[in-house]
Amino acid sequence: MSTILSLAPQNVWKHFYGLTQVPRPSGFMGPVQEFLLQFAKEAGIEAFKDEVGNIIMRKPATPGMEDCKGVILQAHMDMVPQKNNDTVHDFEKDPLETYVDGEWVKAKGTTLGADNGMGVAAIMAVMEDKTLKHGALEALITVDEETGMYGAFGLKPGTLHGEILLNLDSEEEGELYIGCAGGVDVTATLQYKEVETNPSHIAMKVSLKGLRGGHSGLEINQGRANANKLMARFVREAITTCNARLATWCGGNMRNAIPREADVVLTLPAQDEEKLQTLVKRCEDLFNEEYHALETPISFKAECVERPAMETPEEIQDNLVDAIYACQDGICRMIPTIPDTVETSSNLSIVTITEGKAQFSLLVRSSSESMKKYRALSLESCFSMAGMKVEMSGSYSGWNPDVESPILKAMVKSYEEQFGAEPAVKVVHAGLECGIIGSIVPGLDMISFGPTLRSHQSPDERVLISSVQKFYDFLTATLANTPKKV
Ligand SMILES: [Zn+2]
Repeated sequence: MSTILSLAPQNVWKHFYGLTQVPRPSGFMGPVQEFLLQFAKEAGIEAFKDEVGNIIMRKPATPGMEDCKGVILQAHMDMVPQKNNDTVHDFEKDPLETYVDGEWVKAKGTTLGADNGMGVAAIMAVMEDKTLKHGALEALITVDEETGMYGAFGLKPGTLHGEILLNLDSEEEGELYIGCAGGVDVTATLQYKEVETNPSHIAMKVSLKGLRGGHSGLEINQGRANANKLMARFVREAITTCNARLATWCGGNMRNAIPREADVVLTLPAQDEEKLQTLVKRCEDLFNEEYHALETPISFKAECVERPAMETPEEIQDNLVDAIYACQDGICRMIPTIPDTVETSSNLSIVTITEGKAQFSLLVRSSSESMKKYRALSLESCFSMAGMKVEMSGSYSGWNPDVESPILKAMVKSYEEQFGAEPAVKVVHAGLECGIIGSIVPGLDMISFGPTLRSHQSPDERVLISSVQKFYDFLTATLANTPKKV
């Protein structure tokens, strides 16, 4: 018998253990869908699978609670399949091996799937328990959240009837999330005819390395350096003071990461080589001075390379460098009603200029739809001025926080009564399923919360045992205190 079965609350751990025995990596949902439908059947709970594979369950209000607002409990059934190199594990076949490590539960050599198995287990415990008090309940257990929130995107309007949604996919007990960022991809491109490099010129490759980078949403408030932006400062000056010409540019590699590296190839008259080397050194010193508190030492170096045959025409080069230099990057606005919380940002993630094509990729995030649009359009203005074609794609909705939300007020009060402490109320500057679901079911009053998890996308994933009891007690108290219908 697994030791986690003896942990409290036993009904939650029992279902969590059950989930660890069912393979459920994103993209492989069949067995866990079956498992959930079978559970509902045995527990006498109405359940069905929707068109995209989400599992929906319904349980009527307990006697005397019929006038409460309907509550939707929401979690995702898939997990991130990560294992250590020396672990033999087939995520589509093998059960996870869990164990208790001090205050935490972990899995041997793999992700634990507590993200979001803990949320699913809590839903199963609530659905099964006949002693709880609650209004009409629905469960929405989505597929494939981790790889693109496909379950949330595929939800059909009219499927759910509740007015309140409790998302159980947050990672810090004692925190209530009341908003998240939506996003839109902005891509600027320009095709041009390259010109031959000057045969009397030499070529130098200049490389920027060692930046910390980070998640373009969660870490955009840290003020870290953007490799493409630092490089633009150097290239602009190299063009004006060292007679340099731009051949190629390659910076960043993931749209949702702050770029950590960039390199360019420049051509220039041989007599300006020393000047360029001096400029590189001066930039390295300056960048390290500006960022010493935020970055580990930044490396900025130049080396002679073979002269490429072609380079960017001068006018195009100037326009492209100006566009990189000028485009809005980083925080645009903080949320006016919530302290120290980013509302709107953009990240200039990938820049490539090579072989007659320039492409810049950016990701705009905001909890406000109108501010998201504003930042995206200001980027469009900037790149259009440089003669570039600008496309918007992959837009998804944010969840604009409502500090006056009735369920928020009820949950803050209930948390204080139960635990004698105030919960933290937060907004995350990244996407949550709530943003998508809220745009499909307008008017939902939503909160996201959960037990304490760490390293949730690595084999070090763990859940704090004591936080599971608090999380579940808080969930059941919230259901018992659901606001009444108006
Ligand atoms: Zn999750």
